[in-house]
Amino acid sequence: MINNLDVLLEHKAEQLGASFYGAADLAVAHQAIEAQGGSHIAQFPFAISVGIALQHSLVDALPHQNDLSVIMSYRSQAYDVVNSRLDAITSTLAGLLQAEGYNALPVPASQTVNRNNLTAIFSHKLAAHLAGLGWIGKSCLLVTAQSGPRVRWGTILTTAPIAADSNPLEEQCGECDECVRICPVQAFSGQPYRLGEPRQVRFAARLCSEYFSKREKEIGYSVCGLCLYVCPHGRKHSRNLQ
Ligand code: SF4
Ligand code: SF4
Repeated sequence: MINNLDVLLEHKAEQLGASFYGAADLAVAHQAIEAQGGSHIAQFPFAISVGIALQHSLVDALPHQNDLSVIMSYRSQAYDVVNSRLDAITSTLAGLLQAEGYNALPVPASQTVNRNNLTAIFSHKLAAHLAGLGWIGKSCLLVTAQSGPRVRWGTILTTAPIAADSNPLEEQCGECDECVRICPVQAFSGQPYRLGEPRQVRFAARLCSEYFSKREKEIGYSVCGLCLYVCPHGRKHSRNLQ
């Protein structure tokens, strides 16, 4: 544990607008991380997870996703702006770690590198889960107590022995299957998350991606996110829906 650096990193993340901050020891997921991103990614024993809560007004509008103003607002404010804010936070924290003599890699907030599995080099949700910030739901989204799944995530992988002493939260989906039922292309199997199990067991990412492509051809733009919108753990925090 290196208290001063931990405090500095968390403070800087908050200052830059992070709503969530946590540190994870990645040892329990080493094999799965290597399988997804290779040894270059799996060489890092720790991760810092940062999240930015989405505006409820943007998420609550998602059922009206044929409306161009809903599409444009969501894509701009819930994807592009938030992703670039996350990238700025992870870049800054990685710089602080490097200045202290540690190796650190900021993982881009949104980037698909494996065109077959439609996965990124590293799962932000896995880091956030191992940092104790939430559980991975049947939607494959990270569900938090404070905002449900209405959060976007970024990660810094590092060699710094940060204070990664949180326990992952237990899954709290229970009998709920609202995200499974609302998906227009039945992309979710409804299986609960198990550490190390490939995502394909729970989520057919290609069906989701093809749905986006089809809608883009039909109306020129697309968003969906109904699985994010419907989760009761997020909806209960929205004043728009009370
Ligand atoms: S974004 Fe839409 S299509 Fe994709 S998994 Fe969620 S509900 Fe299904
Ligand atoms: S909608 Fe229900 S099943 Fe899906 S992630 Fe949220 S709580 Fe879990």
